[in-house]
Amino acid sequence: MSKDYYKILQIPRNASKDDIKKAYRRLAHQYHPDKHDGSEDKFKEINEAYQVLGDEQKRAQYDQFGTVFGPGRAPGGGGFRWQDGFGGFDGGGSQGGDEERGYSEFDFSDVFEDLFSFMGNAPGAKARPKKGKDVQIDLEVPFEEMVFGGKHEVQIQKLSKCARCEGKSTEPGSKLVTCAKCHGTGKIERTQKTFLGNFSQVSVCGDCQGRGQVPEIICRDCLGRGVVRNTERIEIIVPKGIADGDIVKLSGKGEASLSGGVPGDLYVRMHVLSHGAFRRQDNNLIMTLPIVLSQAALGDKVDIQTLDGAIALKIPEGTESGDILKVRGRGVPATQGYERGDLLIHIKVITPKKLSKKAREHIEKLKEEGF
Ligand SMILES: [Zn+2]
Ligand SMILES: [Zn+2]
Repeated sequence: MSKDYYKILQIPRNASKDDIKKAYRRLAHQYHPDKHDGSEDKFKEINEAYQVLGDEQKRAQYDQFGTVFGPGRAPGGGGFRWQDGFGGFDGGGSQGGDEERGYSEFDFSDVFEDLFSFMGNAPGAKARPKKGKDVQIDLEVPFEEMVFGGKHEVQIQKLSKCARCEGKSTEPGSKLVTCAKCHGTGKIERTQKTFLGNFSQVSVCGDCQGRGQVPEIICRDCLGRGVVRNTERIEIIVPKGIADGDIVKLSGKGEASLSGGVPGDLYVRMHVLSHGAFRRQDNNLIMTLPIVLSQAALGDKVDIQTLDGAIALKIPEGTESGDILKVRGRGVPATQGYERGDLLIHIKVITPKKLSKKAREHIEKLKEEGF
C-alpha cells in the first residue's frame, strides 16, 4: 500500500493547488531538520508528497492509481520511491535524464525562498563565505613511530561537502535558480529614513546566504545545506622525529564550510605510547642493560635488541653499574632532517643474591686477592 500523500500534507483530497502549496510550506517549515523539533524523516515524507501532489500530472496519476509512474512506464511498473531521488522513479535509476526532465520545470523557488530564509538565520550562517570549522583529534602512536614515522587511518565524524550535490544544494539534474529575494545580487539593501537623512545598510541576503542563487529542487541527502555529517576515513602520516604532544596539521581536512568557503583544518595531537624497553630523552633513546658480575669484570659481547633490530654490543672489561654505553645513530631523528640521536645503554650490574657453594668459594678467593 503506498503512502497517503494527502494525509501527509494534512489536506483534503479536493485541495486546491494553492492549498497544497501552503500546506507544504507550513509543514516543511515546521519539520525542517534544522528546526528545533524538526524531523528528517518527516521532512522527506512531506517533500515526497509535495513532489507528487504539487504536480498536476503526477497528482492525477496518483489519484487514479494510488502511485506514480516514471515517464514511459506502464501502470503497475513500479511505485514512487523516495530512495530514487526527489521525483525519481523506481527501476529507472536516479541518474536518468528523462526522469529528471519530468520535474525540472516544476517551480520550487517560492517555497525554498522561505525555507532558505530560516536556514540562513542559523547563528553565524549570515557571514560571507566562512572557513569550515577546525577539528582536533587525538592519535595514539606506537613508540617506534617516533623513529620511523608511520601511517594511520582514522575515521572522523564531521561535516563534509555533500557528495550527491557536490555542495551545490540541488538535486542532480536540477539547477540553481536566481534568488527571488535579492534578485541574484546576494545582498539586501535597506534604506532607513531618519531625521538626519537616509541611511542605507547592505547585508547578506538571508535566503541564499549571499550566493545569489537557491536550489530549484533541494538535494535529498543534505536537505539543501550542501554539507552532510558523515564519517570520513582520513590517512594520517606520522612524521619521523615526532614527539609526544606534537600536533600535526592537515590543511583542509576539517569540517566543510556552511557558506561555500574553504574547509577547516584537522589538527592531530600525537600521543606516543610508552615502550617496555626504551624511553626517550631529547633525541636519544635510553635503555637499561643488566649484566652479571663476570661480564662487568671481564667484559663480554652480547646481542641486544634495538628498535633497528639486534646488534652485537661490546661490554668493555671493568664496566661498572651506571656506566653508559653509546650506540651512535640509533636514537630518534631530529624533527628537521634525518640526523638521529644515539642509543644510550645504562648498565646495571646485578649483584648475586644467592650464591652456590662453588660460587661462594670463588668469591672468597677474590676477596683474598682484594677484590
Ligand atoms: Zn546535497
Ligand atoms: Zn538572495
